[in-house]
Amino acid sequence: VRQKQTETMLHQQVLEKAHSFYLSQLRSGAQAIAYLKQRGLSGQTAKRFGLGWSGTKRQGLKEVFANYEESLLVESGLVIESEDGRRYDRFRERIMFPIFNAKGKLIGFGGRIIGKGEPKYLNSPETPVFSKGQELYGLWENRQGIRAEGFVLVVEGYMDVVGLSQQGMDNAVATLGTATTPQHIQKLIRASDRIIFSFDGDNAGKKAAWRALQTCLPLLRDDVSIRFLFLPAEHDPDSYIREFGADAFREKVQESMALSSFMLQTLAERYPLNEAEGRAACLHEARPLITQIPESGIKTQIGHDFAKLVSLTSEELIKDLAFYQEETA
Ligand code: ATP
Ligand code: MN
Ligand code: MN
Ligand code: MN
Repeated sequence: VRQKQTETMLHQQVLEKAHSFYLSQLRSGAQAIAYLKQRGLSGQTAKRFGLGWSGTKRQGLKEVFANYEESLLVESGLVIESEDGRRYDRFRERIMFPIFNAKGKLIGFGGRIIGKGEPKYLNSPETPVFSKGQELYGLWENRQGIRAEGFVLVVEGYMDVVGLSQQGMDNAVATLGTATTPQHIQKLIRASDRIIFSFDGDNAGKKAAWRALQTCLPLLRDDVSIRFLFLPAEHDPDSYIREFGADAFREKVQESMALSSFMLQTLAERYPLNEAEGRAACLHEARPLITQIPESGIKTQIGHDFAKLVSLTSEELIKDLAFYQEETA
């Protein structure tokens, strides 16, 4: 245990030292500053999120880590070792987004390339302290804003969190390039009793919303509100709020869809409900979804509305679901 603690501490120090380096690089990095300005971000916003710049050198971190050969640098994911043993910085030519956990500890970085080049975003690799399926970018920085607004916005990207904040919405968090996990939802519920998913308007974003809905089902509770905000296909929250402003975005929040409506509408759209076969196929898809919801008022309500959709009484649906559950048990 003792050694583990020491390791975690050293790991932390490595990340913090690198962060100082990225911050100092940004102060003198004209091209990085120009990039942030071009994306509409002020120096104040950059500071609020601790944004940095990796610089362009292959071994930039050599400047701050006297012993670049330290294996800790490789373990922390900041330095990559090639097969022939040569070491170079993982992050080059990237805007650096420090990622803090819910307690404010620096646990990793996301980096966005400022020119052409792949991949567009790069994250620190998974480490004992950095698990992408657990963490939410912005949760630390926006903890007060989330409380003040009374809801948390869940977005896809780092730039969405930062761009929303630039326009005065300090209550967004982003998953780190992964699908929304049950652990994310549990963290979100701890942060606020009102959760609004606001993914990109494109097809990928719509699919991500439907997947997030499915992940929410086993965690639904009557005292937590979960909604979905949909943007025009060509927009993400960052581009939308930048183009139309905070008031227009807040209007979208007002128009957001309850989880129940999103679920029923999506199911309804997929089948010809004027035919028995369509209603049966719709029921077939809905069974494993509805049965995942814990016994609650919201389960009763969704069941009630869904029954109507497929021309059943609530009692008939309940019977059907009980039969299905026994079959699959
Ligand atoms: P930008 O506005 O800077 O172009 P974005 O956040 O709108 O970026 P998207 O393509 O919508 O970018 O991706 C959303 C999120 O998914 C990113 O913020 C990042 O966390 C993750 N992501 C995107 N592309 C990659 C990639 N190639 N590798 C890893 N993660 C990625
Ligand atoms: Mn996208
Ligand atoms: Mn974007
Ligand atoms: Mn996007």
